[in-house]
Amino acid sequence: MTEKGRAMKPESLMMSLGYKPELSEGAIKCPIFQTSTFVFKTAEEGKAFFELAYGQREPNEGEDPGLIYSRLNNPDLQILEERLALWDGADEAAVFESGMAAIATVMMEFLSPGDVLVHSAPLYGGTHSLIAGVLSRFGVKAISFLPGEQEDKIAARIEAEREGRPIGLIYAETPANPTNDLIDLEMCARLAARFSTEERRVPTAIDNTYLGPMWQTPLRHGIDLVIYSATKFLGGHSDLIAGSVSGRRELVKRIKTLRTFFGNMAGPWTGWMLMRSLETLKVRTDRQCATAQVLADWLAQRPEISAVFYLGHLKPGTAEHDTYLRQCTAPGAMIAFEVVGGEAAAFKFLNALRLVHLAVSLGSTESLAESPAAMTHCDLPAELKQRLGITPGLVRLSVGVEDADDLISDLTTALEASQR
Ligand code: PLP
Repeated sequence: MTEKGRAMKPESLMMSLGYKPELSEGAIKCPIFQTSTFVFKTAEEGKAFFELAYGQREPNEGEDPGLIYSRLNNPDLQILEERLALWDGADEAAVFESGMAAIATVMMEFLSPGDVLVHSAPLYGGTHSLIAGVLSRFGVKAISFLPGEQEDKIAARIEAEREGRPIGLIYAETPANPTNDLIDLEMCARLAARFSTEERRVPTAIDNTYLGPMWQTPLRHGIDLVIYSATKFLGGHSDLIAGSVSGRRELVKRIKTLRTFFGNMAGPWTGWMLMRSLETLKVRTDRQCATAQVLADWLAQRPEISAVFYLGHLKPGTAEHDTYLRQCTAPGAMIAFEVVGGEAAAFKFLNALRLVHLAVSLGSTESLAESPAAMTHCDLPAELKQRLGITPGLVRLSVGVEDADDLISDLTTALEASQR
């Protein structure tokens, strides 16, 4: 939407885009359409709606896809999807009942038995388990690459390990949960182009949960699909579970078709909650990002901490810093740090927190801390955890909207307790 020829920012449009009050008794907010099905005016109308929903014909000039059944469409999801697409500059978005549902549906749509999935590591623990424990049962071979690995080396390894199988999807999580490692988005797009054939173009999908869409928009770097655990920053209040995928229309349409048959779309209540959350996304996360910078600088000075992993501390002149400058607009609100004394000290720290909550998840209004090695990433083999830097003493901190001095006071008490 533009005002006098100037494109408006997403935060200006989150209260209105896609919603017409006159269709809902003038209500300023989109109501919750808590309904399973929608009444057709005539049988002919129902037939026309189904023809469009099943892609049996193209819409006529000005013809809207009608509402049919809430597994296919619902106003709360459609309006939310229009708003989500705007943040990433996507053609279209699809909302799911969880981040894992979004990830699993993308992988199932683009991968078939015999295909290769190329992915970055580390990945969120649930995604790792899906690939290692489920996709492997369906004959999908996984080849992983590490942050900082050279493009030519990765390509050569894919060629050597794929044993002639086609590449079905290139998938990366950047920044990676929990280490904040960066993967070069444009390199992923180049790898996909390298392994695409005339018959089969290799799509790219990025889990942008850690930074986006406020601080990183992968579609602007040649990526096809961006995935979120909307449970995190998008939802932002630790009160809902949801996921989303945004990207090129023809790809999102395929994902929506599979979603219809899996039945893993979000419900109207979750859709409504997420619309509420998107109205404050920018103000919430601006504050979280600013506080995270204060905390990260402070943590780096503490004697109880041996290393801080935070995007705002990347060293200028390094390849990772160059990647950061190319694709990220701010360091975000996620910090990981190593407590001196390993698991025992990290647990004493976590147990002593009072304002920060000891809980998994991230991106919420309240600050959250956890032990990735013992909790979110416990399923990774010990050797892999070690190689990826997911050590027993590592703590992951998601910074909320609390006062920075109050957070520092809580962290001080807990760090002192960690060394007793
Ligand atoms: N991706 C990342 C980076 C995550 O941190 C998570 C959850 O922690 C997920 C995906 C899965 O999302 P959900 O819990 O909404 O299924």
